[in-house]
Amino acid sequence: MPDAVFERLTELEPIARQLEPSPEDRAVLAGRVVDYANSFLDRLRDLPAFVATAGPIAGIPAASIGETPLGIDEALQLLARHVDEPGLNPASHGHLGYIPGGGLFHAALGDYLADVTNRYAGVSFASPGAVRLEHLLVEWMASVAGYPADAAGTLTSGGSLANLVGIVTARDKHGVTGGEVERAVVYLTGHAHHSVDKALRIAGLGGCVVRRVPMDARYRMDAAALDALASADASAGLLPWLVVASAGSTDAGAIDPLDAVADIAERYGLWLHVDGAYGAFFALCDEARPRLAGMARSDSLVMDPHKGLFLPYGSGAVLVKDRRAMLDAHHYSASYMQDAAAPGVEPSPADLSPELSRPFRGLRMWLPLALLGLAPFRAALEEKLLLARYFHERIQRVPGFDVGPEPDLSVVMFRYRPARGDADAFNAALVRAIHADGRVFLSSSRIGGHFVLRLAVLSFRTHRDTIDLALEVLRDTVARLEAS
Ligand SMILES: *Cc1c(COP(=O)(O)O)cnc(C)c1O
Repeated sequence: MPDAVFERLTELEPIARQLEPSPEDRAVLAGRVVDYANSFLDRLRDLPAFVATAGPIAGIPAASIGETPLGIDEALQLLARHVDEPGLNPASHGHLGYIPGGGLFHAALGDYLADVTNRYAGVSFASPGAVRLEHLLVEWMASVAGYPADAAGTLTSGGSLANLVGIVTARDKHGVTGGEVERAVVYLTGHAHHSVDKALRIAGLGGCVVRRVPMDARYRMDAAALDALASADASAGLLPWLVVASAGSTDAGAIDPLDAVADIAERYGLWLHVDGAYGAFFALCDEARPRLAGMARSDSLVMDPHKGLFLPYGSGAVLVKDRRAMLDAHHYSASYMQDAAAPGVEPSPADLSPELSRPFRGLRMWLPLALLGLAPFRAALEEKLLLARYFHERIQRVPGFDVGPEPDLSVVMFRYRPARGDADAFNAALVRAIHADGRVFLSSSRIGGHFVLRLAVLSFRTHRDTIDLALEVLRDTVARLEAS
């Protein structure tokens, strides 16, 4: 080896070693980051739920990435100003829009440990302990959902990827390929989450016949209509193969009649995929469990720990009853499969989803469950159900407000009937004014052709005082708009 190489190595090594901070640097960096996080959490109660911005923002300057490094204080200042201030604050108790996510502190500590140890949870051989832990969580979720203990499953980045894994498994199990796609029929309601349509398209099933099954007055799938559609399609020589039902729809929080849908799925040999990204974890509380009856009869089920278990974003899950079908659809090498599917050998997460290298997601989920126990999760979920009912009841007492159906879970739809003028325009102005106010964040949707407001309760930080605040903001804002 020429001397020049040794010389170059001597130059490079001390620079490359800067990637590993010294114990002293580590203490400073971790101290500053923990201080930042603590200050955020200490102020969180009083931070706005939403900070409106006029158009796109400049954000963190591009010059922050260059040959000269920033100090930690400067980096945190940039973060505070350009990232943590503008827009929606999903950690806020006042986040009552879309489907709120979580952000449990214990989960953040799990991420910290998973990132520092960098355990590779993709393949059993590499980290049997990490993979076992993820499967333990899958087994626990199966028990929550009423699935058999030997169901397969995996932790994903979220519900969208989980829906894709379920649909790809169903596709391969039913052999829906090539020319058959155009005769293959999928059943779902107009309130199925758009990630299901996206998954169908990504899975090469965009050409399937899609039947939008009518809904009843409570935005639940009309099972009799599903039966009639499947029957007509089968008689016409089409191939009904998949029904996607919601255990908590995003728009209305409605639970489709899962038992009746399961009966029909059995009758026509359909794969039943239940999207419980939002609602499935409500099975943890006695109050909601009966309403989710039938969920356990599905072939595949999506549940999002970053929704119903209050984890930070980045945690979805999918369970599949037919273990073999899930492996067949996702394993990446036939010879490897042999071991993975052999009795007694744990299948690797990499054989159960599109991912290979993936974060050790199990730790962020296990640590909060282990450190807190299940009681606070059950209590928080039941609290959310009751808060939604409380809001539904109270908003009706404010003159001018009309409400949607009594919530199945924790979403309430409502709108204001103005004294004069166009109701849709008024409600659009109302939601804009609430965003400008920022104390709470609500979102809107279009249902049955009408502009409606939604209140979705799922942040673990939302308690009764937040719902009272939302009622106050609505009352005041309407009065102001009516006066102007
Ligand atoms: C949130 C949601 C999804 C999508 O999940 P992500 O985790 O956002 O990818 C799918 N279905 C339902 C019902 C949802 O509420």
